[in-house]
Amino acid sequence: MKWNLKEILEVKDFDKLSKEIEKELEKLKIWVKKLSPKMSREDFEKMLRLEEEMGVKMSRLAYLPHLMEAVNQKDQQAKVLSKKAEDLGLKISQTSTKIGLWIQGKTEPKLDDKNAKRLFGVIKDLEYSLLRSREGAKFSLNEREEEIIRHKDSNGVGVIGDLRRMIETEFEYKSGKKKIKSQAELLSLVHSPESKVREDAYRALLETQKKNIDKFFAMYQAIVRDWAYEAKLRGYQSPIRVRNWGNDVPDKAVESLLSVCTEEKEVFWDYFKWKAKRLGVKKLKRFDIYAPMAKKDKKISYEEAVGVVLESFKEFSSEFWQAAREIVEKKHIDVYPSPVKIGGAFCATVEPKINPYIMLNFTGKTRDISTLAHELGHGVHSILANKHLASVQQSGLPLAETASTLAELVVFEKMMAQEKDNELKKAWLSEKIADAYASICRQNYFVKFEIEAHEKMGRGLSPEDLSKIYLGNLKEQFGDSVAIDPLFAYEWSYISHLFESPFYCYAYNFGELLSYNLYRKYQQDKGFLKKIIKILATGGSEKPSKILATVGVDIEKKEFWRESFEVIKRWQKELEEL
Ligand SMILES: [Zn+2]
Repeated sequence: MKWNLKEILEVKDFDKLSKEIEKELEKLKIWVKKLSPKMSREDFEKMLRLEEEMGVKMSRLAYLPHLMEAVNQKDQQAKVLSKKAEDLGLKISQTSTKIGLWIQGKTEPKLDDKNAKRLFGVIKDLEYSLLRSREGAKFSLNEREEEIIRHKDSNGVGVIGDLRRMIETEFEYKSGKKKIKSQAELLSLVHSPESKVREDAYRALLETQKKNIDKFFAMYQAIVRDWAYEAKLRGYQSPIRVRNWGNDVPDKAVESLLSVCTEEKEVFWDYFKWKAKRLGVKKLKRFDIYAPMAKKDKKISYEEAVGVVLESFKEFSSEFWQAAREIVEKKHIDVYPSPVKIGGAFCATVEPKINPYIMLNFTGKTRDISTLAHELGHGVHSILANKHLASVQQSGLPLAETASTLAELVVFEKMMAQEKDNELKKAWLSEKIADAYASICRQNYFVKFEIEAHEKMGRGLSPEDLSKIYLGNLKEQFGDSVAIDPLFAYEWSYISHLFESPFYCYAYNFGELLSYNLYRKYQQDKGFLKKIIKILATGGSEKPSKILATVGVDIEKKEFWRESFEVIKRWQKELEEL
């Protein structure tokens, strides 16, 4: 039940591979000297292929210690290798940055548009990423300015981020009579079956945030103002556009997504009202939205879980089934928790020729089946796109969660169809809708809050003003379905995404709703599966909106996002009928 990393690299061959890369780096440096707009297509191709080759080797070199350390945080050998790989990676990036700047047309001898067009098509697979990198030049500054920004960031906003984490880790909470040392532990209590425990945990968290709100506000204000300053300097028309450009998603698509999520919020109100009834209260309190509904859960072995997932995949698509089976059979999964292993779960794509690796912390809960399905979904995605070159095998953010979310849906629907126990089915559905709320509606309102905060911060706000804006945002989000304690006004101050990557959160509702929509299209017409596979097999070699357009999906249209909500509405209906 431990993964076998030999396929990536054997530890004894680490130095040998490292030397190989060093040699190739010398060759790459020679190419840098030969860069010229007049260079032949053949030469340009040779250089790109060398860079790809080095990327693959570097990835193997870095993933070996990374994965070793993931399952054994005390592995000293892994730490040494990891540092070596990191140093070599830095060395390479100095050279590849030079190539990157030249491709952007920013260094002499300048690459003009005509020659860029002539050269970029030489490897079809890389054309999109080369064009995009060149297009990005319009938002970049000159070399010296970029250098200054990098430097100022690492001693400025970068430090603010560290400071915030330090302040939070120093907090000690008192929840009821219990002393609690970490925020993560405290937050796990909001899922407790006891209402008093949930409320105490939230109060402990939010009282602490409130007491320190001036500090969080000062940090947030600096981050927001810095973001605005840089966005303006680079020529973005609004703060959120920085993120949209980074994701390569049209502004219009994001606007449609946000407005539909706002308009369709009431399906979650129905859910919260249902939940209030089930809990025997008149109105649900904000403290209780994650109250578990299950009185029992099924325990399941890993072998059984694999069986359920593979069987569901098989019914859905032979491609999914085949790819997932390969990962399982090749022993690329590290299954059980251990005291030295990191928490959570992930799927790692090393390079196209190696099947991806999956780390789990399987304990036999129903939720662990979903996690297995999710990570195997990522693995399937990676295998389906393995005909591409390494640098474009993986999808960008907007499509990165498509296969994983689909995989979860497929397994969930299958489990629901097979289960006879209505109490269990109710609990599963309830949990599914609560999850959908958290990844769709809640994230949507984070982004809406950010848009308002970024807009108003420049005009002068106090910590209380900002918290009032947040409370207003919550009231709109929950309507009359949930009673909100005024303490929740300070909730914004512990949401790390708002500080660490502004406007990131719409990636969650985007990914989730996109998958719902594709799944729904598949349910209506099984022939749509071919198109799903086509999207996944494109990997990151094409613009996300263009990939989707080729299968008839227009993410700029509100109707598209609205359709996705039909899936949640069906669940809610099923829940009420049960
Ligand atoms: Zn994922």
